[in-house]
Amino acid sequence: PASLFGAIDMAPRDPILGITEAFNADTNPAKINLGVGVYYDDNGKVPLLECVQKAESKLMEQQAPRTYLPIEGLAQYDKAVQELVFGADSPVIQEKRAVTVQALGGTGGLKIGADFLKRFAPDSQVYISDPSWENHRALFESAGFVVNHYTYYDPATHGVNFEGMLASLKSMPQGSIVVLHACCHNPTGADLTQEQWGAVIEAVKAGGLIPFLDMAYQGFGSGIAEDGAVVGRFVQAGGPLLVSNSFSKSFSLYGERVGALSVVASSAEEAARLLSQLKRVVRTNYSNPPVHGGKVVATVLSTPELRQLWEDELAHMRVRIKQMRDALVEKLKAKAPGHDFDFVRKQVGMFSYSGLTKEQVAKLRAESIYAVDTGRICVAALNSKNIDRVVDAIAKVL
Ligand code: PLP
Repeated sequence: PASLFGAIDMAPRDPILGITEAFNADTNPAKINLGVGVYYDDNGKVPLLECVQKAESKLMEQQAPRTYLPIEGLAQYDKAVQELVFGADSPVIQEKRAVTVQALGGTGGLKIGADFLKRFAPDSQVYISDPSWENHRALFESAGFVVNHYTYYDPATHGVNFEGMLASLKSMPQGSIVVLHACCHNPTGADLTQEQWGAVIEAVKAGGLIPFLDMAYQGFGSGIAEDGAVVGRFVQAGGPLLVSNSFSKSFSLYGERVGALSVVASSAEEAARLLSQLKRVVRTNYSNPPVHGGKVVATVLSTPELRQLWEDELAHMRVRIKQMRDALVEKLKAKAPGHDFDFVRKQVGMFSYSGLTKEQVAKLRAESIYAVDTGRICVAALNSKNIDRVVDAIAKVL
């Protein structure tokens, strides 16, 4: 008799994790992985931030029992997240109109939001940028939504096709859910200008759309407050708003799974009902979030010296990425004259859509340099020791 699972198909491999598998299997000691979505320091290591180490020492001393957290997470954490995401003096905090639940990374925040929306906006369809983080589609589809694209990237300019984006927004049916990258667009590195955000907010409002901001890289663009400012602008425009945020990158806490979902309601009373429903989503999925990462982040954010240290360490990561962008552009200018890579400087965050074709990426791989087929490279994986080899290899395949 056939086994219960005998007819199950093999699921497609995750395209990005597949690159890492190939990279790990490569025996060339000079191999370089630009396919990742992780920040590496100048020594090619994932940093353990000093603010995190100090918070962990403090927590270790406390030897606290590992009780369950509330369903919505650690209160101190949720409060700190709200102040970071909305700004400490935001009206939605003062008026108790924002609710925040601790989540398993930014992915968890998106998933709680998606499941929640499926209950209360069941007939809406979801729109994600073209292209977007590859998990957006799968995640909203798995919550039961039809997922469509809105126009975003323009390969000709390596920037945003803003006319196209606005036209897409204006053609969406009322009540559509539009997923927007708050900053540091993944995978392209192409962000909207402040002025363009104004027009997007207007279109979202005029069209009765439901904005869902994904903020996985707060602090990697222009600064913590600068990157978060777009959230405040949506708040000011009024209407419903969902925001998922992640500390995976900004605290280098990838494996601790620390993120959150925040939702803005129209009154404190509505917010209370909304929180009760979010808790139901969490309860029926994993009951309550883990303690450690949330405590580390809450401790850092609410201890002034640690908070300052974190802001300095985050600024250091942000500046190092910018230096790598500059170095890449300058070095390519010297090694591959006639090819214009200036756009890399304008891109923001950890990634760059480099314009390299699938064929060129394959040629790089023959040199043990790994990038995504789409040409996405992680600028945060470049460092002073590997950049020359990367530049030489790119110059060769152009
Ligand atoms: N959203 C975007 C745009 C991302 O790039 C990522 C991570 O790569 C996430 C969400 C998920 O972050 P986390 O690892 O915290 O779940």
